[in-house]
Parts: sequence; C-alpha cells; structure tokens
Amino acid sequence: MSIRENVDLVRGKIRAAALAAGRDPDSITLVAATKVQSSDTIRDAIAAGITCCGENRVQEFTAHWSDGAYEGAKVHFIGHLQRNKVKYLVGKVDLIESVDKRSLLEEIDRRAQKLGLVQDILLEVNVAGELSKSGVAPEQLDELLTAADALPGVRVRGLMAIPPIAVSPGGNVEYFQRMHQLFIDIRGKMTDNRSCVDILSMGMSGDFEDAVACGATQVRVGTALFGARPPQRAQG
Ligand SMILES: *Cc1c(COP(=O)(O)O)cnc(C)c1O
Repeated sequence: MSIRENVDLVRGKIRAAALAAGRDPDSITLVAATKVQSSDTIRDAIAAGITCCGENRVQEFTAHWSDGAYEGAKVHFIGHLQRNKVKYLVGKVDLIESVDKRSLLEEIDRRAQKLGLVQDILLEVNVAGELSKSGVAPEQLDELLTAADALPGVRVRGLMAIPPIAVSPGGNVEYFQRMHQLFIDIRGKMTDNRSCVDILSMGMSGDFEDAVACGATQVRVGTALFGARPPQRAQG
C-alpha cells in the first residue's frame, strides 16, 4: 500500500467513527507520527494530504527541520521531553504535546518570552497510572494547570494521553472517556484570556477509532500510515 492509500484509509475510518458518534469528521486532525521516517517519506506523506506531523525525538525533528521536510504542514512534538532540549523546539513547533512537569513549563515560558512569542502546549496525562510512563497524574493536573495559567509565554490548548496498548478491542475506552471528562473539566478552569482549550490528543494506530468515538480532536497515527517500524532503541 502506498502512503496515499493509507492516508485515505485512515481518514475514511476517522470519518466513519466520527459520524457514528454524531461528530463532525472535519473537527478531527490526523497527526502523522513520523518517528524513524526519512525526510523524503515525510514529504511524501504531506504530498498525500497529511497536514500535521508529530515528532518524538528532538534530534530527528532538528534534522527534518533543517531539511525543510515539513514544508506545507504543521509540526507537533509528541515525545518525552527533557528540559535541556526545550530550546530546540520553542518557536519552531506549532504545539508541544508532552508537557508534564512544572520545570518544563517554566523552561518553555522562559524560552518563549525570550523570543517574544507564546508557545502552544498540551499537558500530558498519565491516565492509566503506569509507572513506566511520563505524564502528570490526573490528581495533579489542576496544580500543573494553575502553574501554566500564570506563565505568559505558554498557552495551554488541551490534553494529551498515551494509554497502554489495548489488549483487546475497546480496551482503552475507559481511559479515553476519563480523558474526555478531564478535558471538559479543565476547560472550565482556565482563567486567563490567552487560553483556548480545544485540543484532546489521544488514539494511535490500534485504537484511534475508539478515541474518536470518545471525543479526541487529534489522533496520532504512525504504523497505519507508514507500516511497521524497525525495533527501536530507548527514547532519548
Ligand atoms: C509512535 C507514537 C504514536 C503512533 O503510534 P502507532 O501505534 O505507530 O500509530 C503516537 N503517539 C506517540 C506519542 C508515539 O510515540
């Protein structure tokens, strides 16, 4: 299958899931998870209609960025982020989806203010309470939100989650529903006038239709667009 066929196939499934849930299919963005893909593959995906790329690693992002590979599309950072790498992203990516700590918020704010801009971010929630995963615990989300609210250089646009790989169909629905409720809750809590909370990023190749049914506004899909990835080294 070509990338174009895969993009059409995934779009069709998003559309069907949205309509079945009584949602507008155009309100859902397909973010192509481009980790380990080459700049040429990214260009192919954009030519095939992808409007947004999600990158996991700062190093890959920087290489593709220098190549001009993202031309014509937006870029989100979706991977685990270390404080000392924030400087390579602020002002370049449209959205940093994986903010889960106050120290990250403060560094993004500092870098953004230095550049005279406001960086859009999502707060990543560890919705399943997995020890091995990053993300703020649902119980600590309010505290992080309050911290973000006070920083002029960041604008919280919503929430992101990476639930466990579902072992059976529908296995993540409870987590997606919980995320949707948190998303609705925080909308009411943002008090500053910069905020525009309208993004709920959840769902991957194995479960994006369930995520759409539960209210996702963005799904991050890699394998279903590009095929299986080679085994990976640890994140860094
Ligand atoms: C790789 C990745 C995805 C996409 O995963 P697939 O199962 O290949 O669709 C989505 N989100 C994040 C954060 C990822 O790292």
